[in-house]
Amino acid sequence: MTCYLGAHLSSAKGYAKMARRAAEIGANTCQFFCRNPRGSRAKSLNEGDLEQCRTFLVERNFGPLVGHAPYIMNPCAKDPGIRELAARMMAEDLMLMERLTPGYYVFHPGSHVGQGIEEGCRQIAAMLNAVLRPEQQTVVLLETMTGKGTEVGGRFEDLRAILSQVTCREKVGVCMDTCHMSDAGYHVAGDLDGVLAEFDRVVGLRWVKAAHINDSLNPVGAQKDRHAAIGEGTLGTDAILRFITHPALAGIPFELETPQDDEGHGRELAMLRERIAARSVQ
Ligand code: FE
Ligand code: FE
Ligand code: ZN
Repeated sequence: MTCYLGAHLSSAKGYAKMARRAAEIGANTCQFFCRNPRGSRAKSLNEGDLEQCRTFLVERNFGPLVGHAPYIMNPCAKDPGIRELAARMMAEDLMLMERLTPGYYVFHPGSHVGQGIEEGCRQIAAMLNAVLRPEQQTVVLLETMTGKGTEVGGRFEDLRAILSQVTCREKVGVCMDTCHMSDAGYHVAGDLDGVLAEFDRVVGLRWVKAAHINDSLNPVGAQKDRHAAIGEGTLGTDAILRFITHPALAGIPFELETPQDDEGHGRELAMLRERIAARSVQ
């Protein structure tokens, strides 16, 4: 099975340029922000650019692309206006994803700001039920979070609670983040099989459609969310290699979100590809 490895890239100069950049750094998938990560205004779309991007992805046998929601989006804010804004941003971003390529759209479930996890999960599912359309191609993914502050999604149980209240089941899934899961207290480096078995028991591994591969600056359970370059954190290169070659995760796109520029991501991708190849000849 093809291993789809990529990185978070900028789409600021257009989607076709982004896809070519991904290929240049040795990626066969990539992630990007559908709009300014901290702002809320979607950029205007150029049909020619989207068309060129689509053609390039097919020519180069790319795996699915991953669009990322802006960080400011909070579907379980206490203020109903902020929740409505979240729904509006997601609906707009999904229109872009539909026009670009059949792929994934990842969002952070949000922070319940004292309303409680249960109410947070209910509000997140309510937004998904308002936004998701049975005819859409894009699958919307909940990211596993560290659980810092009042963040929802630090426990696998949170994800189950949200998913179980969504009507459009085939249009939702999960994006695992190795740094976030470790920071949340799951022993990704020490006991990956155990973590995946736990996820399977609570949520079901069939829901995992994409993953972010990051090392972490902090120890297991620290709930800090500080990404490190692969091999420069507490997880280590071997843990990341075990993750991307794990049979339970075969075929999904893996995206680097490490603190590197495109060239740095290119070096990480080359190193990981080399190490995967060395493993398979042993
Ligand atoms: Fe994220
Ligand atoms: Fe992430
Ligand atoms: Zn993070």
